[in-house]
Amino acid sequence: MATTTIQNFLPEQYRQTGALEVNHNYLPHQFADHDVILDKIREVVVRGDFTLGAEVDKLEQEFAELCGAAHAIGVGSGTDALFLSLKAIGVDKGDEVITTPFTFYATVGAIVTAGARPIFADVGADYNIDPDQIEARITPRTKAIMPVHWSGKPCDMARIQAIADRHGIPVIADACHAIRATYKGHKVGGLGAIACYSFHPLKNLNVWGDGGIITTNVAEHADRLRLLRNHGLAGRDECRIFAYNSRLDTVQAVVARHMLGKIEHITRSRIANAAYFDAHLRGIDGVTVPHREPDIEQVYHLYMVLCERRDELQSHLVAHGIDAKVHYPTPMHLQPAAADFGYSCGDFPMAERIAASTLSLPVHEFITSAQQDRVIDLIRGFYA
Ligand SMILES: *Cc1c(COP(=O)(O)O)cnc(C)c1O
Repeated sequence: MATTTIQNFLPEQYRQTGALEVNHNYLPHQFADHDVILDKIREVVVRGDFTLGAEVDKLEQEFAELCGAAHAIGVGSGTDALFLSLKAIGVDKGDEVITTPFTFYATVGAIVTAGARPIFADVGADYNIDPDQIEARITPRTKAIMPVHWSGKPCDMARIQAIADRHGIPVIADACHAIRATYKGHKVGGLGAIACYSFHPLKNLNVWGDGGIITTNVAEHADRLRLLRNHGLAGRDECRIFAYNSRLDTVQAVVARHMLGKIEHITRSRIANAAYFDAHLRGIDGVTVPHREPDIEQVYHLYMVLCERRDELQSHLVAHGIDAKVHYPTPMHLQPAAADFGYSCGDFPMAERIAASTLSLPVHEFITSAQQDRVIDLIRGFYA
C-alpha cells in the first residue's frame, strides 16, 4: 500500500512557534480569561443550539455595527466568506476575478474553487492592489474585483469603486486583516458590495477554531448569503436553492462576542505599537517603513517593513528570540498551484520585490515597550 505524502504539519508548527521570547503567537495571554468564556459555552451546551444559535444572531448585529454595515452573516471561515460572496454574485466557470498576487492563499483559493480564473494586478508600494493596474485587466468575463486590505490597511476604495462602477462590476473586499479599519472616515465593512472577515485564532478578533463573517449594505446579497451558508433553506422545509453548509458555530460566536468587548483595546494597542516601531525604525538605513496616510486607520493585523538583506536580518532576530516572520516569501502567481494560469517571474515586479524584502514584527497587545526596544536595538545593531 502506498504511503501518503501530505501530512498535517500544524502540530509541529504549533510546537515550534511557542518557543521564542517575543512571539507572534500570543494566544495563551489572549485567552487567559478562558473561564469566563467557558461559563458562557456551558450555557450553549446545556441549551443545545450548536449551529447558528441565538449567539450567532447577536454577534451578527454587533459585528455589522462595528464594521459599519447594515447586515452581517456568520459563516464557517474567512475562506468560506470569500467563496460564498463570489457565489452570491453569481461567479461561476469561465468567469474572471481581478485580485492581488500579494495575499494569503485563501483569496485566490476562493476565486478558483468558485470556478473563476484569478487575474492578478500588481500591488503598489503600500502592499495593496494598485488601482492603476486594474482597469486594463477588465474583460467581458470579469465578474468581480477582489482587493485585499493587506495587513489591515484599507485599499484605495474610492478609486477602486470608481473603476468598478464604470464597468458595472461588484467589489468584494477581502477584509480578513481589517476588522474595524477605517478608510477616510468610513469603516471598511460598508465599502464595496461585500466585505469578508476571518475569526482565525491569529486574526485581530479571534475565536477557538475557524469562523468567519460577511458584511454588506445590500439586502439582496445578505439574503442570498443566508441561503448559501445553510443549504439554501428559507425555513426547515423550504429549500430555495441547493447550496452549501458553512454555518458559524454558536460556540465560536460566544468567543467572538467576548472578543468584541476587547477589540477596541486590541486595535488601539496595535496602532500604538506600530507607531512606536515606525518612529524608531524610520531612521535606520536598510529599513524602509511604508508611507502612512493620515485619513486611513490601519489596524496592523501585521506590522511590515521592507528590509535589505531580509533573510539575514530575519535569522539574526530569530537567533535572539524575536519571532520575525515573512508574510509571504512567494507571491501567488509563482506558487505551484498557479502553474496553469500561465504567469511567470517578472510579471508583477512590485509584488515580487516586496516578497523578497518584507519582514513582519510582532505588534500585538501583549508586546511591551521594553520588548519593542530590544527588537529596534537588534535591527539597528544588524545594520551598524
Ligand atoms: C486568514 C485569511 C483568509 C482566510 O481566512 P480563514 O478564516 O483562515 O479561512 C483570507 N484572506 C486573508 C488575507 C487572510 O489573511
